[in-house]
Amino acid sequence: MTTESALRADIVEVGRRMYARGYTASNDGNISVRLGADRLLMTPKSVCKGFMTPDMMCITDLDGRKLQGDRDPSSEMLMHLEVYRERPDVQAVVHAHPPTATGFAVAGIPLDRAVLAEVLTTLGSIPIAEYATPSTKELPEAVRKYIKAHDGMLLANHGALTVGGDLFGAYYKMETIEHFAKISLVARLLGRENLISREEVMRLQELRGTYGIKAPAPICADDASTPLGTGRVDATCQVVQAPSSPGARLVPDVLAQGADANPDGEIRLTYRELSTLIEDAIRSLR
Ligand SMILES: [Zn+2]
Repeated sequence: MTTESALRADIVEVGRRMYARGYTASNDGNISVRLGADRLLMTPKSVCKGFMTPDMMCITDLDGRKLQGDRDPSSEMLMHLEVYRERPDVQAVVHAHPPTATGFAVAGIPLDRAVLAEVLTTLGSIPIAEYATPSTKELPEAVRKYIKAHDGMLLANHGALTVGGDLFGAYYKMETIEHFAKISLVARLLGRENLISREEVMRLQELRGTYGIKAPAPICADDASTPLGTGRVDATCQVVQAPSSPGARLVPDVLAQGADANPDGEIRLTYRELSTLIEDAIRSLR
């Protein structure tokens, strides 16, 4: 078992990495780990996570009562407590505002498309928990809906949350989410995003067992999409958007606007573009 002094040093190191990578600005973000069965070691409020020292951490019980420490525990303590209550397997919780992932959270676009094999095997899908005022009781309520089935999620118009079987495991999931968000953004800027087929997604899921990856829930059998605030929230499986295509591992081009690439694909036009098209069509009929 990791000693308390080693865990304090690990929190300092994870905070330093988050700040150095721009996942937090100023005093943003917070980190906690379980300290035995009934206590938590947590970052304090109002400190920059890039410049912490081991003695700054607070020790609380699982109800959030401070047991030790000169400073008060994180303003997002309620969210951390909720995660530990809902997930007895979780040993560490990390919250940050990585800019690209948070951009998706602001745009209301979940990272739930089957795009990267490694993300599918580790995190599955990354949903968006509905907007809640930071540091209030609303935020743990928003997180509760998704935390049973997910090790990582976006928080609408706020940031991201990851959990793990140890502190570095939780932190690496934060890295994976931000990396995935950057890759998704680039693919969408390029105008094409080939998806991994549902059949291949199910094959990848079987690899979880082979590699000993402990996912909190399997990938859902279908891909009912979950638009922000209106869609299905399933506490027992991870909703991944992956088109069925027996025999194909990749399904081309859902975002491409060329009809030959994907005749059933969605295209988006502005009002101005649509009016121009209609006017041209009417003119050609005259
Ligand atoms: Zn935050």
